[in-house]
Amino acid sequence: MVRERIKVLPVESRPLASLAGAVLSQAVRAERDQPPFDRVTMDGIAISSASWREGRRRFAIGGTQAAGRPPLRLEAADACFEVMTGAVMPAGCDCVIPVERLHIADGSAEVNDDAVVEPFANVHTRGLDCREGDMLLARGTRLGAPELAALASAGLPRADVHADPRIIIVATGDELVEPGEPIEGWQIRRSNSYALRAALALRGFLRVADDHLPDDPLALRDRLAAHLDTHDVVVLSGGVSMGRFDHVPQALRDIGVEEVFHKVAQRPGKPMWFGVARGGQAVFGLPGNPVSALVCLVRYVVPGLLAAIGARPAAVESMPLGAPYRVQPPLSLFLPVQLERSPTLGLVALPKPTRGSGDFISLLGTDGFVELPPGPADYPAGYLAAFHRW
Ligand code: AMP
Ligand code: MG
Repeated sequence: MVRERIKVLPVESRPLASLAGAVLSQAVRAERDQPPFDRVTMDGIAISSASWREGRRRFAIGGTQAAGRPPLRLEAADACFEVMTGAVMPAGCDCVIPVERLHIADGSAEVNDDAVVEPFANVHTRGLDCREGDMLLARGTRLGAPELAALASAGLPRADVHADPRIIIVATGDELVEPGEPIEGWQIRRSNSYALRAALALRGFLRVADDHLPDDPLALRDRLAAHLDTHDVVVLSGGVSMGRFDHVPQALRDIGVEEVFHKVAQRPGKPMWFGVARGGQAVFGLPGNPVSALVCLVRYVVPGLLAAIGARPAAVESMPLGAPYRVQPPLSLFLPVQLERSPTLGLVALPKPTRGSGDFISLLGTDGFVELPPGPADYPAGYLAAFHRW
């Protein structure tokens, strides 16, 4: 439902250096053959292999072919050029003999008998990897390290991508106190915002603002309305349960945010809320309990953000359970796990249950969570479960 309702952000042109994690909205073709010329792959000498076949082992060094220089031309069969990795093959040469197979003295190179000398030895030939005009990157590709190398190789200084979502994380709760501020015994540190921001940053979502609102319906209404004017995605934490001070769903309704769903048959995170504002902005109401907030961010907000930047749905990782686990309630279970190598099963997810959804200390040392279908059911060790990283 999140993927269906989220608005795909408009396209903009951005410079290469800002594109990590963005999704292409254009196709990219090869500017030139790759490699663009017969490329020397070892430091050594270049010769014509015909001379070697005729029995010649000693070659006069006629010059040096360095990377970035136009090709020299070999004129005599008893001559060679010194060549460097990355240089273009000199004309008249067809193979490279690495420096480890040579003895160089008095302006000549003596080639060891054990050298492998045949056409194209130690040459990365022009067009071997791709041809000019070949499709390198399709529309909808998420740009990681190899993709950015391909973009740069295509000679493009900029590319068309979907805009980076402007996100705001809004903590709600009168009990929350900022780290660094004095705190009373009955108050709580405002920790969710930092966990949520970290999970977003680790996925490349960096345009993230922050606010803290009181459990006051009017303040919620006014400030959330203002945030909707300047953000594409609002991520709330707290205030979506059934308590007398859980004003978030009503405040959102009051400012015209359409509720798409409220409550999910899952544990933790059952009170999760999702809606869409009049301008198409997505609003996620995450439960305030820290474990709930984090699993709901990973399970719902992140796929939503990926859809908003035009990415295809990512394949879900699966991981075998490292120990049996019993699920009692008829709810999907998000179970924190630690990845470990087992002698028989390979990499496994070891259950690390928390003491409830408020116990974020038990998450320390875990890698993410698995998703187990509703109980009652006993899942054996080795059961393949969907796995989500923090
Ligand atoms: P709520 O969903 O507002 O009822 O909050 C549920 C529990 O989560 C309460 O114990 C809150 O104090 C706690 N909580 C809510 N927001 C945060 C936050 N930003 N950081 C840490 N704990 C929070
Ligand atoms: Mg609250």
